[in-house]
Amino acid sequence: MGFEGVDAVYPLSPLQEGLLFHALATPDSGMYVNQCILTLRGELDTDTMVEAWKRAVERHEVLRTFFVWEGLASPAQVVDRQIELPFEVHESETLSPPARRAQMDSILQHRRQRGFDPSVAPLMCIDLVRTSHRTHDLVWTFHHLLLDGWSMFSVLKDVFGAYEALRRGDDVTIEAPRPYRDHIAWLRRQDVAGAKAFWQRTLKGFTAPTRIRGLADHAAPVASLEAAARTEIRLSADTTSALEALARKRRLTMSTLLQLAWAVVLGRWSDRHDVVFGMIVSGRPADLAGYESMVGLFTNTLPVRVDLRADEPVIEALTRLQQSQLELRQYEYSRLVDIQSWSDLPAGEPLFESILLFENFRKEMPLDSMLETLRVDNVRWFEHTNYPIAVLAIPEERFLIRLLFHRDRIDTDAAARILDALRSTLEAMAENVDRPLRALPLASDSRHRVLVEWNDTEMELPSECIQERFERQVARAPNALAVADDDERLTYRRLDRRANRLARHLRGLGVGPETRVGLCLRRSVRVPEALLGILKAGGAYVPLDPDYPAERLAFMVRDSGIRFVLGERETLDVLPRHGATIVTLDADREQIDAAGDGALAVGTTPHNLAYVIYTSGSTGRPKGVGVEHRSVVSLVLGADGYARLGPGRTLLHFAPISFDASTFEIWGALLRGGTCVVAPAGPVSAARLGRTLADHGVDTLWLTSSLFNAVLDEDPGVLAGVTQLLTGGEALSPAHVRRALEALPATRLVNGYGPTECTTFAVTYPIERLPARDADGVSIGRPIRNARTYLLDRAGSSVAPGEAGELQIGGAGVARGYLGRPGLTAERFVPDPFSSRPGGRLYRTGDLTRHLPDGRLEFLGRVDHQVKLRGFRIELGEIEARLIEHPRVRRAVVRLREDRE
Ligand code: AMP
Ligand code: MG
Repeated sequence: MGFEGVDAVYPLSPLQEGLLFHALATPDSGMYVNQCILTLRGELDTDTMVEAWKRAVERHEVLRTFFVWEGLASPAQVVDRQIELPFEVHESETLSPPARRAQMDSILQHRRQRGFDPSVAPLMCIDLVRTSHRTHDLVWTFHHLLLDGWSMFSVLKDVFGAYEALRRGDDVTIEAPRPYRDHIAWLRRQDVAGAKAFWQRTLKGFTAPTRIRGLADHAAPVASLEAAARTEIRLSADTTSALEALARKRRLTMSTLLQLAWAVVLGRWSDRHDVVFGMIVSGRPADLAGYESMVGLFTNTLPVRVDLRADEPVIEALTRLQQSQLELRQYEYSRLVDIQSWSDLPAGEPLFESILLFENFRKEMPLDSMLETLRVDNVRWFEHTNYPIAVLAIPEERFLIRLLFHRDRIDTDAAARILDALRSTLEAMAENVDRPLRALPLASDSRHRVLVEWNDTEMELPSECIQERFERQVARAPNALAVADDDERLTYRRLDRRANRLARHLRGLGVGPETRVGLCLRRSVRVPEALLGILKAGGAYVPLDPDYPAERLAFMVRDSGIRFVLGERETLDVLPRHGATIVTLDADREQIDAAGDGALAVGTTPHNLAYVIYTSGSTGRPKGVGVEHRSVVSLVLGADGYARLGPGRTLLHFAPISFDASTFEIWGALLRGGTCVVAPAGPVSAARLGRTLADHGVDTLWLTSSLFNAVLDEDPGVLAGVTQLLTGGEALSPAHVRRALEALPATRLVNGYGPTECTTFAVTYPIERLPARDADGVSIGRPIRNARTYLLDRAGSSVAPGEAGELQIGGAGVARGYLGRPGLTAERFVPDPFSSRPGGRLYRTGDLTRHLPDGRLEFLGRVDHQVKLRGFRIELGEIEARLIEHPRVRRAVVRLREDRE
């Protein structure tokens, strides 16, 4: 080259061009000044150390490089033949520890502030601080234009190698590595058209950047170090080695594990399943000779796009990601600005706002092994980034993860939670990669709390059906009062015998396991008797409320495939025509009574159907929820956490039989040895209710919240004898609850929450205190025995404590599904990713809830258009579908549509 004292002149790499541009635009920012600090312990020979650095500078061209741009079409880098290396020695041995720290801070800051003029070599300097006669801190400050992290370690390795050799008096002339300019030449030969096609394919359809929740908009690039903050965590040694073992066993890189984990966290924080983040790649082509020992700026930042499929097993997502990385490596040299312009993103939108860096060079180049007489300690350096969030992963014995973030874009608390989420995602990966992606949980401590501790509800269940559990009570106390209404009282033995007769009669007609039997009765002791009769015959009951509209009853009879209907003359009259066999309890009495009253062996199992209860359906058709015996037995045997049941307890059966509150009212008494008082049929008023409660000594009562409010408004005194008052079915009114707590000091008030699909109750709260503000609502409490609650986001991942998620419920109470509606069943009853039991399912309630700090749940509202009207669950879609059936409504709608067009 024709320059005096110059070894080489050559163009910049794309990344260098970008850096130089930014560095010149923000000269005082210190953004691209890197500092590496390490402590050297042992007898240090300063002169030899200076000499060792000089040798390194001789050996590596980039350390003698400066930049020229003025008057040039494109900037160039120039390698000086000789430079003077600034090497300053400081003393701090005599200082107190705080003063020593202050001195170090001031050296670091001074160097950063002064920065480097890119046009003057060298763009680096060394400070050696003697802190005691056997310890030194070494500070190496350099411009990022020269080197990347890998090269930084390479140079240090050379320096220490030279130091040891010089100390021993050996020859240190080692062959110089391939120069950086070879890399620039290689870059210029790469296939731009191929890269363009690859990136266009990779980013196709990605039209909106991944917006991290809570990340402030910020048009201007961050140009101040002051805004940069950091937070870091370490994985446990166990988790680290589990991840390493996983990587080895499945032939994955640690970087792939980290990338997927970051994608999952991003997905959660952006509510997207298609995410893009930046990744810093080594930029050293794997298949070219001599690249590992080259020194310079090779790294490049590239977009990584991850398509998160909630149902895909983690291992498959990892394999897929790793595969795409292999392809990406071929185009690793691509310029980010080019990629951006090839993408479908609108101009000016950033491709990503977070970047990931996997710093494996630390592990690959252990500095300690370079030195015989010195020990290297506490190697650290200041990284900074102009992205709002950067994740640095540093593989050590305990994997270190550092989050660099810009305080003016995201607050410290959110950054800490993001990091926590990343940690727990990695922990979950270390545990099991065969689960689907959706099962990857959140913050580790909170994750354990939310998923495990707060769901620690398991209770052993006997393998018994409802009628068997009842028969156990008959055997135990045959003369105890089982059921009573205003006209009749039956002991357990008498009720059992009557039910046996009915069962035998039904059996004779062909009722057996899974046979649905309609029940159309007004409230009286006949109801429990009929229910038991149906179950004892092996069948399942389908309540048909005689007060329902005929059309709806007709639909239910058809839809549930009922082959038998049980009722009384008067109630059966209201049923529209149907093909089912009719059993009229009053008219057929003689026949029934002739059937004999011994118990039948029916061969049902706890997994057989016990009942079908209809609820509103959003498409206009109600849907029948099929509940199995085991769910009812679990509900009743597991109630102790919120209601005391058993001999001596008197429950009122007051809810319409077509509501699943009746499950609790009736079986909560009869399977536990208590008494079921059947409220008289007819209109409801506080006074009438009060009379029934008093006449029969009822101590346990369920009222839907609207009824609860009405009774409290009318006359709370009628409830005075009730020691257990359960209410709910819809959000409670804090004002009414407060009034009840005051007016009924001897009553235990319980908020009962549960969809029909989970067998009456799933979550309950014996109300101890009310929130300070009424607006916060009354907590619904905690899952009952054998119920597990999960709060999931749209992608199916557990949300952090305090955040709103859809409540999904698992456990013994989960119903079989919707009768004859496999599609709808599959949509609402999904595989339970948190359960190790095969076949476990979660019911998606559609209720939005969040965790209070102590684990209780708060009901926030619906995710859909379901409402409650006086305790009735109604899908607005059903109303809409019915309205549109009306010719006048239809005409009006058609007209409206025409008007609009
Ligand atoms: P149902 O199947 O009729 O019991 O209706 C279940 C739905 O009622 C739930 O999904 C909730 O939306 C609502 N719900 C039931 N109990 C409560 C409660 N205690 N607080 C708030 N909402 C409730
Ligand atoms: Mg309910």
